Amino acid sequence: MTKIIAPKGTKDLFKPEILKWQFLEARIRQFFSRFLFQEIRTPIFEHSELFQKGIGSETEVVQKEMYTFRDKANRSITLRPENTPSVVRAIMENNLLTEIFPVRFFYIGPMFRYDKPQKGRFRQFHQFGVEIFGEASAEVDAELIFSAFGFLNEVNIEDIEIYINSVGCPQCRPRFLPELQAAAQKQQNELCPDCQRKISTNPLRIFDCKKQQCIDISNQFPKITDYLCQDCHDHFQVVQRTLSTFEVPFISNPRLVRGLDYYTRTVFEITSGQLGAQDALLGGGRYDHLFQELGGKDIPATGFAAGIERIILHLDEIPETKTSIIFIAYQNAALKTEAIKLSAYLRKKGLPVFMDYNARNIKKQFKKSDRVGAAFTFILGEDEIANQSISVKNMKTTEQIQIKREDLDQWLRKHM
Ligand code: AMP
Repeated sequence: MTKIIAPKGTKDLFKPEILKWQFLEARIRQFFSRFLFQEIRTPIFEHSELFQKGIGSETEVVQKEMYTFRDKANRSITLRPENTPSVVRAIMENNLLTEIFPVRFFYIGPMFRYDKPQKGRFRQFHQFGVEIFGEASAEVDAELIFSAFGFLNEVNIEDIEIYINSVGCPQCRPRFLPELQAAAQKQQNELCPDCQRKISTNPLRIFDCKKQQCIDISNQFPKITDYLCQDCHDHFQVVQRTLSTFEVPFISNPRLVRGLDYYTRTVFEITSGQLGAQDALLGGGRYDHLFQELGGKDIPATGFAAGIERIILHLDEIPETKTSIIFIAYQNAALKTEAIKLSAYLRKKGLPVFMDYNARNIKKQFKKSDRVGAAFTFILGEDEIANQSISVKNMKTTEQIQIKREDLDQWLRKHM
């Protein structure tokens, strides 16, 4: 029979790598509470329409990467390729704009994209992200970038670059897009077939193309920042000024448009010098019209999503925090029930306890005690049962003492 293995682009997590995940997740919760973010968890699958409308039908994600299938009732379902549209849907559906203040959420969880797997790129990958709703000011965009930068510093990731841009708004973009289209049309034959198609469908997406020939050509295209309306221009100026006040180093990159359609005004990306081709650690921006696109009111919003696998690649080994384990050994099978009772007593007290239910002799049990790294082995023999005591062996010093059952709690308080 052929062996069943995990699907391509997925991976199992266990010790020691899982220690990094646990560390990172704890830090995310801790760090982002400083900015009053609260956790939100949405389903990992949604109606496909949410992502088609929310992300944009011309994006790579929607065109090529979604895990979409029909459920048993013939509904089109998609495993979430990212979390922002789901968060917006959840906020509208649960009226969170009126229930919670400030409306600032963070999430941590798996996302799914049918991408070509390679280092730092998976088909099931994990993101943490934050979203801020109802706050339109440019300072908030800067605060968000400051929080992303601060977080990476907090987990000792320092070899990074922050790129920012403004992609304008529905007012100024119509002035820019015909210019962009005209420039692209002039060099149509040199662009890849995908980009040729995008000229008429969604020219901004040409900037997302990763093919070198398209990058070289689009580098010569007009810059969106030269076409911003006064409000967008002013907004972008304040973002940059406030970043300087926050002492966040940044590079303005007019090519940065981000791969999703919903962005307005500020967009940003943080890359790492150590990641090679998949160098983006996180990205985000303002998306003031997504609520409306999804049938809600016009609510300003801004956020970012970070790739956990990519951040993990930068983390140093996390030392395991050792808890003192108690191993319970029993001299013969007749004493197993007493041993089980003792294990239940200790576990109810919150202590980590291990025992071997198939133990044939005490020597083998001591070996197991060593293997689990127990600090103490509690030994129950005929003598101990007869005089209501427990023999306790300190596994490090090999010293062995006998304690009375009535003194057990006192002993635990002192040693555990
Ligand atoms: P995006 O939602 O495309 O803006 O991605 C935000 C971040 O998620 C990126 O900067 C990456 O760190 C991470 N990311 C996106 N796609 C993948 C993937 N297929 N595998 C691993 N990480 C990813």
